[in-house]
Amino acid sequence: MKDYFLKFWQGLWTIAIGMKVTFKHLFVPAVTIQYPTEKPELPERERNRLYVNMDDCIGCLQCERACPVDCIEIETVKAVPGEDLGKTSNGKKKALWVTKFDIDIAKCCYCQLCVFPCPTECIYMTDVYEFSEYERDNLIYDFVTLTPEEREEKKKNYEEFLAKKEAEKAEAARKKAEEAAKAKQEEKKEDKKEETKPEDKPKDKEE
Ligand code: SF4
Ligand code: SF4
Repeated sequence: MKDYFLKFWQGLWTIAIGMKVTFKHLFVPAVTIQYPTEKPELPERERNRLYVNMDDCIGCLQCERACPVDCIEIETVKAVPGEDLGKTSNGKKKALWVTKFDIDIAKCCYCQLCVFPCPTECIYMTDVYEFSEYERDNLIYDFVTLTPEEREEKKKNYEEFLAKKEAEKAEAARKKAEEAAKAKQEEKKEDKKEETKPEDKPKDKEE
C-alpha cells in the first residue's frame, strides 16, 4: 500500500515538473511561427533562388565558368550584320543571341559565385525560397526569352551567314588563282618573245 502511494506521488511530482516548464513559457513571447501561414523574416544577405534578367545578359559565359557544380548551361549565337540587339541597362553593347540559359536549381549549392563576375549584374539571388517540385526536371529553369522557333532562326541565320562568307572566300581565292595563272601565262609569252629575238638578229646579218 505504501509503495502504491509512493508511486502515485512520484507520478504527480513528475507531472508538476513538466507543467512548470509549460507554465513558464505561457508568459514569454513565442519563438515559433505558424509557417506557412506566417513567413519568417529573412536575414539581409540570404541566398535563395537565382534569377536572370535576360534583357541585360550579354552571353559572356562568366557565370557559367564560375559555377563550381556546373549547373549553368549557356549557348550563344553571334548576331549577323544588320541585326541590332541593343544595349544593356549599364550601356554594354549586345552582340550575341543567348539561345540557351538553363540553371539546374536542384544542383545549385547557393554559393553565389556566379553572381559576382557578371559584368551587367543581371544574375542575382531573389527572396524566393519556396519552389519545391514533384518532378526533378521542373527544377531546371530556362531563362531564355526567345521562342524555340526564334532560337532556331538565329542559329540558321548565323549558319547561312558563315556559309555565304565561306563561299565568298572560296570565290575570291578562285579569282586570285585565275589571275595568278593568267599572269604566269603572260609572263611565259613574254619570255618566249625574248627568246626569239636573239635568233632573228644573226639571220639578219647573214642576209
Ligand atoms: S549559386 Fe553557386 S552553385 Fe548555384 S548556380 Fe550560382 S555558382 Fe552555381
Ligand atoms: S555573367 Fe551575366 S552577362 Fe554573362 S552570361 Fe552570365 S548572366 Fe549573362
